[in-house]
Amino acid sequence: MDKNQESIIENNIVTALNVLKEFTATPGCGVTRFPFTEEARQACAYLKERMEAVGLTVRMDTSGAVIGRLEGKRASTIMIGSHFDSVKHGGAYDGIAGVVCAIEVARLLQESGRELEYSLEVIATNDEEGARFNTGLFTGKVLLGQLTCEELKTQVDAEGVSVYQAMEDFGLQPEQIAAHPRDDIKAFLEIHIEQGPVLEAKNKEIGIVDVIVGIKRARIKINGRADHAGTMPMHMRQDALEQAAKVISKIGDRARLFRNCVATVGFLQVEPNIMNIVPQSVTFAVDIRGVDEETIMTQYYSLLADLDRMSLESGLTYEVEHLLYAQPVQMSESIKEQLEISCINRQLEYMHLPSGAGHDAQIFGAQLPAAMLFVPSVGGRSHCPEEKSEARDLAKAVLVAYDGIVKMMDFC
Ligand SMILES: [Zn+2]
Repeated sequence: MDKNQESIIENNIVTALNVLKEFTATPGCGVTRFPFTEEARQACAYLKERMEAVGLTVRMDTSGAVIGRLEGKRASTIMIGSHFDSVKHGGAYDGIAGVVCAIEVARLLQESGRELEYSLEVIATNDEEGARFNTGLFTGKVLLGQLTCEELKTQVDAEGVSVYQAMEDFGLQPEQIAAHPRDDIKAFLEIHIEQGPVLEAKNKEIGIVDVIVGIKRARIKINGRADHAGTMPMHMRQDALEQAAKVISKIGDRARLFRNCVATVGFLQVEPNIMNIVPQSVTFAVDIRGVDEETIMTQYYSLLADLDRMSLESGLTYEVEHLLYAQPVQMSESIKEQLEISCINRQLEYMHLPSGAGHDAQIFGAQLPAAMLFVPSVGGRSHCPEEKSEARDLAKAVLVAYDGIVKMMDFC
């Protein structure tokens, strides 16, 4: 592919992303595009237009995803795409850049005049972030039949509007949600910005994702006793924050012992949180991520052992509430191999890396062959208005994905 074609891809990407970033509920303060909103409707209409312009037959499915289809010899489908929704005050690239790239892949396939063995669908998924209803990965779950109509009624946003209601208001039919799970999807490919600093720091142009990390989350409450901060002697007090601090201080260092692991305490609540009162209780939430179940759970059980020891030594009690466990999801070896061959042929600087964030590809990858390409994030910034990836890097991902899809037509 010559330089001229690369610059056409770059231009198309820039044009589309510049239009799409205007579909936000927070103009001037980043992109806020929640599912089933006016901004979502505008983005969907524009994506439909772009998909139709490259010759795709476009529809909106029951989940509110925009899908553009190219019919192949077989009805079975290879899918490429990412999400069109965003977090609050997010950037103009997370998710949507992958959708715009996927449309470019479809355009290249169309223009190549190739006969497709399998059908191809470009998908812009809905509510991947979960920013509105505290859920996420919505379209993937709907496509694979993992959600019931009843669940949609219990998941509500900050205003008390349920997913069910929001879908109806948007013109969708929530009752249909479980009716037609897709069993025709052969494979799923996603281009996404890295959202971290690794590719840039290592001077790589593209990343091939090996695994999407697993996550263990728990909320822990340590119970002490509120007393006067001046009159209660040190050896007689039951200071919940002092004990919590000892346990929490080990979490980060423990994560550093494992490769590709991270652990975060991002939530802390002190009661009564008053300067001259010994803390009565501390609640904190821990988020542990890793590339295999063993390293995640080893850290988690070590944390529980620390809590037991703390309780034994101090006499304080604790409670643990399980919040989430998501398995690490391995990406398809055979698709990764093809992507790697493409990177080599095109003389791109590439590397393998895990994804520390969740993505649509994890839902698909748990059930069928899936793969992800990461595009460098400038400064590693993401989920903020400063988020950016260079158009030339996005264009390279388009070319690698194009090569990958051509090969997948043969072996999937
Ligand atoms: Zn994303």
